[in-house]
Amino acid sequence: MEIIDGKTLAKNIRENLKSEVEELKSKGINPKFAVILVGNDKASLTYVKSKNKACQELGIEYEEIILEGNTTMQELLEIIESLNERTEISGILLQSPIPKHLDINEAFRKISPSKDVDGFNPYNVGKLCLNQDTFVSCTPYGIMKIFDAYNIPIEGKNAVVIGRSNIVGKPMALSLLNKNATVTICHSKTEDLKEITQKADIIIAAIGKKHFVTKEMVKEGAVIIDVGINRTDEGIFGDVDFEGVKEKASYITPVPGGVGPMTVAMLMTNIVKAAKQSNQK
Ligand code: NDP
Repeated sequence: MEIIDGKTLAKNIRENLKSEVEELKSKGINPKFAVILVGNDKASLTYVKSKNKACQELGIEYEEIILEGNTTMQELLEIIESLNERTEISGILLQSPIPKHLDINEAFRKISPSKDVDGFNPYNVGKLCLNQDTFVSCTPYGIMKIFDAYNIPIEGKNAVVIGRSNIVGKPMALSLLNKNATVTICHSKTEDLKEITQKADIIIAAIGKKHFVTKEMVKEGAVIIDVGINRTDEGIFGDVDFEGVKEKASYITPVPGGVGPMTVAMLMTNIVKAAKQSNQK
């Protein structure tokens, strides 16, 4: 059994990006990232802070647009439009969640596909679906990098994704399908989940329930990727019962230190890619 070290892998990716950013700057290309935050959701503030820190480390310019919780949809769309139009901005991210009176899907649709570094615009999701080069949602993208870095085979494997959210489960399933896995997507209405997971060579747990995946659900030698971040008074826990499952797994990601750091590293990768592509136009 090998514990996947997402922290080190992410650090290596960031180091490579740092050199790439320096090189781009020497050619007059300055990657710049804009984050929109609406309201004062506590977790969002933490996420935004870590994105700012990563940008600073890499020499990527960072701009934060903080909007009041009572911002109207019209105002939000206008701000996105102004960022779309500003040529020096390479990537735009709208931090979710946003207040309930706002339509997040409409906002994601407004972000220019060429600046959509989170990969949430339906145009980019469609391209992923068609297996065309695009901006892939950062968490699934980071997981695919883990498979790559650890030489974990995907083709022909039985992959089970638990969770079907637009930001993790669905793009994850599509990414695995694009690499020729046989993919099953499970969700809260799935019957006999255990029977399905017991046949999986690869399990991606993206549920949001502490220690949901137990060793009884896992086949010997399976690859276990734990996306879950469940904050409790005792600390942060994944969706997988790590201690029990690790005895059966061939590879397993810990929480924290597995998928989480990769998400930010892939966001940085997407920003640099957007900067390069906008320069080629
Ligand atoms: P969502 O709440 O949007 O989706 C959860 C999914 O789990 C849904 O599809 C839901 O099914 C499914 N589910 C819920 N209960 C069950 C059940 N009993 N059996 C089977 N499926 C179930 O969450 P996200 O996808 O946004 O995030 C999932 C987890 O990953 C969270 O803990 C989140 O914090 C974490 N996360 C971590 C990231 C990282 O960088 N490491 C990035 C993003 C998220 P249904 O659709 O039927 O409701």
